[in-house]
Amino acid sequence: MKNLLFSLLLFAVIACQPKDPATIMSGAKWVDLTYDFDSNTVYWPTNIKFHHDTVFCGINDKGYFYASFKYSAEEHGGTHFDAPLHFGQGGESIEKVGIERLHGPGVVVDVTKQSAGNRDYLVGVADFENWEKVNGKIPEGAIILLRTGFGKYWTDHLRYTGTVKSGTDGVKELHFPGLDPAAAKWLSAERKINAVGLDTPSIDNGPSTDFMSHRILCAAGLTVYENVANLDQLPAKGAFIIALPMKIKGGSGAPLRIVGLL
Ligand SMILES: [Zn+2]
Repeated sequence: MKNLLFSLLLFAVIACQPKDPATIMSGAKWVDLTYDFDSNTVYWPTNIKFHHDTVFCGINDKGYFYASFKYSAEEHGGTHFDAPLHFGQGGESIEKVGIERLHGPGVVVDVTKQSAGNRDYLVGVADFENWEKVNGKIPEGAIILLRTGFGKYWTDHLRYTGTVKSGTDGVKELHFPGLDPAAAKWLSAERKINAVGLDTPSIDNGPSTDFMSHRILCAAGLTVYENVANLDQLPAKGAFIIALPMKIKGGSGAPLRIVGLL
């Protein structure tokens, strides 16, 4: 009897041992939610595009191979991160956003049908309420990801953004879905989330001129991810999102490496 009790106790102790992160990660599937950066990467029409130039690539004068390049880019292009400073006076710049706010449970809100019929679709409070009806309340610390379906147009700039023009002429022709300012207000006031991301160039839809969703989210100290890739590979819930921007001191935005863990 004593032996049985001891065995049961030992089993309970072993079963209750927390798994170490390496064990948990070893069985996980990773999804890369990041686009490549190259000369075709989507930037705002008034922005300078991504440049990647060769410093040296080849066999050097000492006889061994060596490669080194230099790059330049504006903060807000390609898959990137907006810090609260972007539209919030006195808001945090990138390096001030703590790493505990750079990850969280993924909440994928699928509005591909609505966006297919309306290039300027605004993801509204009703879309989040519908998500909650099926999946339960948006969890604390969530990373909200709006799947508009526009990711499939990524390499076709005309379909992805509405224009191939640069400068202010291009800005006038932007058409893509975004987040309704009323929903930005609802998310920041009624739910405790870490960030909102989406698969279009901006959290405000293409025709927006007052960038109200940016302003509301930034004022609330929330962060934003734009041009997020591969959202079709994530479930509505259950993925864990890790979003690590380049740590530019004083930066309002930065290139972002974002991944989902299934
Ligand atoms: Zn941005």
